Amino acid sequence: MIDPMFTIDGVTPVAVDPRLVAALLSPAAIVGAFVWGLLWGSFANVVIWRVPRGMSVVHPRSACTSCGAPIAWYDNIPVLSYLLLRGRCRRCRAPLSLRYLTVELLGGFIAFAFYMLHVVRPLIEGGGPGIAAWLLWTLFGLALLIITYTDLDLWVIPNAVVLPVAAVGLGVAAFDPSILGVDPIEAVVAAVGGYGLIAGLRWVYLKRRGIEALGLGDGKLLAMVGAFCGASGLFWTVAAGSIQGLLLAVPLLLVGRRVANTELKEVHGDDPELGDEDPNAGVMGVRIPFGPFLAIAALEYALLRESILDGLYWLLG
Ligand SMILES: [Zn+2]
Repeated sequence: MIDPMFTIDGVTPVAVDPRLVAALLSPAAIVGAFVWGLLWGSFANVVIWRVPRGMSVVHPRSACTSCGAPIAWYDNIPVLSYLLLRGRCRRCRAPLSLRYLTVELLGGFIAFAFYMLHVVRPLIEGGGPGIAAWLLWTLFGLALLIITYTDLDLWVIPNAVVLPVAAVGLGVAAFDPSILGVDPIEAVVAAVGGYGLIAGLRWVYLKRRGIEALGLGDGKLLAMVGAFCGASGLFWTVAAGSIQGLLLAVPLLLVGRRVANTELKEVHGDDPELGDEDPNAGVMGVRIPFGPFLAIAALEYALLRESILDGLYWLLG
């Protein structure tokens, strides 16, 4: 019988019960990780709709947005209910947005992918299971998922999401740097640097051209990324987020598709904070939210950190 060992603080070997190893590697556990993500994906849908609108995520119960009928628990089971109801409200048959299904499945993918990365892979390679790392990176991924959609819908990156998650990242780095792989000083420097980068650029644009080219929400998002991913993750997120954003946005704009909801007044009214729309701002005269592209790049880094670092080192010689 193989006796898998794992180390605490990289020094002290600790034996892991082989029955625990077998259970964590079982198909049931892997499917369970996916289902766990589906449930949180379902909650992410609630957060995406309610938090930017200042509503509680607990009360009232979820209701159909067309007829107002409360949604029973058996009609609120991730993925299954959507498929059984064929994407329609049980009472009024109004179609439910495919968005709900997409966000649930992305939540499932996030929890599954981090389970494979932080629990299954180390066990196969003879290390210990990173249960804490799995849960924390899943939290990070879900926050990125929520931010992507609130920014696309409403141009909002909710403080209630980014600030607590950034604080968790900094707290974990201080408590045990090995969990996220970032030491506390780097985490703080990267978090402050991420926020400072956006705040600085925003100030320059406001001063020189009188337009708000960037929102402070993007800065808080980068603070969260810095806290979890450190300096190299921050660098990747800004660089890859900008490049991928242009690569995706320009073709969409060329074929006349809107990238995001551009009816700002509908949501923000005449909020002076947002500044005026400027035909010279954004990409080809259309404002593009930066948050979703930063979020996608940050998720890439969290999932593919080793390959990305290898590539960056190779590029830098
Ligand atoms: Zn209905």
